[in-house]
Amino acid sequence: MINYSATEISKIVNGKLFVHPNFENQQITQIITDSRTFFNPGKSLFVALVGPRNNGHAYIPGLIQKGINLFLISDKTVVTENAVFILVENSTVALQKLAQFNRHRYNYPVVGITGSNGKTIVKEWLNEILSGEFKIVRSPKSYNSQIGVPLSALLMDGNYNLAIFEAGISQPGEMEKLAKIISPEIGIFTNIGDAHQENFETIRQKIVEKLGLFKKSNKLIYCCDEELIKTEVEKFCKTNSIENVGWSLKETGGFINFTTKIKNNFTEITATRNAKEYCFNIPFTDHSAIENSCHCFVAASVLSGNFTATLPRFAKLGPIAMRLEIKQGINNCLLVNDYYNSDLNSLSIALTVLYQQAAKGHLHKLVILSDIQQTGMEKTALYNRVNNLLVEWKIDEIIGIGPNISSCCEQFTIKNSMFYSYLDFSENFNQSNYKSSAILIKGARQFTFEKVSELLQQKAHQTQLEINLNALVNNLNIFRGLLRPSTKIMVMVKAFSYGSGDVEIAKLLQYQNADYLAVAVADEGVQLRNAGIEIPIIVMNPEQHSFPNIINYGLEPNIYSVGLLKSFRKTVLQNGLNNFPIHLKIDTGMNRLGLKSEPEMMEVIRFILADNSLMIKSVFSHLAGSDDPALDNFTASQFKSFEKSFSLFANSFSYKIDRHILNSAGIERFPGYQFEMVRLGIGLYGISNTGLPLENIGTLKSTVSQVKTVSTTETVGYNRRGKVAANGKIAIVPLGYADGMDRKLGNRNGTAFIKGGFVPIIGNICMDMLMLDITGLNVEPGDKVEFFGENIPITEVAKRAGTIPYEIVTGISQRVKRVYLHE
Ligand SMILES: *Cc1c(COP(=O)(O)O)cnc(C)c1O
Repeated sequence: MINYSATEISKIVNGKLFVHPNFENQQITQIITDSRTFFNPGKSLFVALVGPRNNGHAYIPGLIQKGINLFLISDKTVVTENAVFILVENSTVALQKLAQFNRHRYNYPVVGITGSNGKTIVKEWLNEILSGEFKIVRSPKSYNSQIGVPLSALLMDGNYNLAIFEAGISQPGEMEKLAKIISPEIGIFTNIGDAHQENFETIRQKIVEKLGLFKKSNKLIYCCDEELIKTEVEKFCKTNSIENVGWSLKETGGFINFTTKIKNNFTEITATRNAKEYCFNIPFTDHSAIENSCHCFVAASVLSGNFTATLPRFAKLGPIAMRLEIKQGINNCLLVNDYYNSDLNSLSIALTVLYQQAAKGHLHKLVILSDIQQTGMEKTALYNRVNNLLVEWKIDEIIGIGPNISSCCEQFTIKNSMFYSYLDFSENFNQSNYKSSAILIKGARQFTFEKVSELLQQKAHQTQLEINLNALVNNLNIFRGLLRPSTKIMVMVKAFSYGSGDVEIAKLLQYQNADYLAVAVADEGVQLRNAGIEIPIIVMNPEQHSFPNIINYGLEPNIYSVGLLKSFRKTVLQNGLNNFPIHLKIDTGMNRLGLKSEPEMMEVIRFILADNSLMIKSVFSHLAGSDDPALDNFTASQFKSFEKSFSLFANSFSYKIDRHILNSAGIERFPGYQFEMVRLGIGLYGISNTGLPLENIGTLKSTVSQVKTVSTTETVGYNRRGKVAANGKIAIVPLGYADGMDRKLGNRNGTAFIKGGFVPIIGNICMDMLMLDITGLNVEPGDKVEFFGENIPITEVAKRAGTIPYEIVTGISQRVKRVYLHE
């Protein structure tokens, strides 16, 4: 934990201090940059960052109300009497300066990792391999940006004796700043790929820029098998007198050479160093895992005097679960699963998520925690600190599982129960003790907390649609990147957010500062309001009977005809309201809803001008063929007609009215027509018209219920349409057309992904089931099957079913459980 006073920090960052005498001696132990995370009000310094879309200064009044009274700012106008302000020119630069200062207070070794892929895995694996010998501080999750790196370096304190930080860049010029902060003695250059290549002219430029992290390093670890990297690294090491620690998978040529033997489900690796051989296994067979483990081996051999002791640990490396999993639990509980590592920093992060999740449903906050290992702290001090964290986060209750935590139960001041082991816990488990709680389940791997989660989990339908919320944020940001920072985004969450779920998606979008949400009918909007959504919501099809709900829930109607305008205005007048926000839809050629003729529009204008009951927030239209180059002339005529109609409104009202016409494909293909707002739909859900690097967000999965052999004389399913080859085998899966599986995918038109391979759907799809031809594969009941997602693109399923992706995603029925994943 850091510990600085406001005066000290002001000096370090060259700031001007505005201090109220009450707070003069206040110590700062935590730096926060995100007003939405939880914090210890008395001891946290909020750094108001200014980005293209977000200005941290806007949150200061709200934070003062929550008890924060220490701020690092770059805008003097927010200074008030009741808090401490440190004024600087640029708050990002100041944060970096502070981090740099903190880092240089300690002289234990710092490992810096950069490269295109594998940074986080190498960091996490090194941590696992070395944590027997060192007390390690490392970047949380993938904190490797211009903000993430300073926040990581601000975790360094005297309790540790090794630091491992990752650094990532997306543009030239960024690494220099990160290098000053991390200033690593030992560097690891993982590899180079084409991520972020759009901002670099050549691969060589990107290599050189990344190597900038290591200018002051003593040793640089890298794989010397690629000519371009080898040449650049050798040059770089020579110029900066750095010891070049290249390794090779080609048997010769490196400081350490590796040979590999890939077995069924593991790889045997032999390292030759100074003519001595060392053998270890890793439980993976893919190239990236081999590369990552070689980096770790070399780093361990450089850092640890006793590195042969680390060799057995390689066999126990696991996949890095960087994401927390949020699941529906029994009795209205919500589970936050994080059971792959346990340390204080990751506990802090997980508690933020728990706090946010619980706040949404006013849930009781429970933490189930295992022993925390390898912190190097004495156990009573450790659990005392854990208790302080829990108190700070207003956790209601803790259940501890493990010999150490249970022996320290006196350290806990909140309601607690302790168990010596999982067995002890499960024997005493009673479902009815868990109700309406948000439960964080967090344990070191050996405590097998998956089992705790299983006890508390709502028995899952075997079929589920997994929604990757990180991918959704990624997609949102990709679209933001195509727009001017000032352009507003309306996200279409109609039709259950294109099948991904309404409330969860809307909450995330609100958190990500979407400007507007759009629903099809008022009921959908009411549901969002009831779930705590406060941002503006437009109702595309406001029906007469729903006007009271529109008014009571603060929804904004799309007015598409003179008749609708008249009746809605009447309701507004009856309610005695003024300036009620409405949106006007113009039909520019789609021939769906909308005002089409000039006389209609003039009538609308006259009505609205007649009194001040209504206020036009926006005028918009919809493109009929934004995705189709063959229709570009027509699209151009729609733009023209829209601008002409809009001028009628602009000329009639003195206030400003927003314009919008682009849907997802429109944003991709005609960003010049973004006006003041755009309407994002299918793109957010991962489908691009122009090959944007969007991530898939939905994965439809099920589980094999039964496997059987079928002879060539037999048939499968209704109407005897399914036939197998000799030695045929089929798997029955509980997913049918009532779940949204298009019947056209039956009879070998559709495929599934199982056990690493693709298999056809055999016979007619039934209402609740379908059959797969698994002839020749070793499939068993319980095996997972994917129908679309990571391995089968939705676009391909749509093609096979003879439809468009929109119909596939919105067709998955509500009885299919949605499970949300996020980091
Ligand atoms: C659904 C919809 C959109 C979004 O379309 P996508 O093609 O999914 O981006 C935009 N505007 C209106 C009026 C819509 O109905």
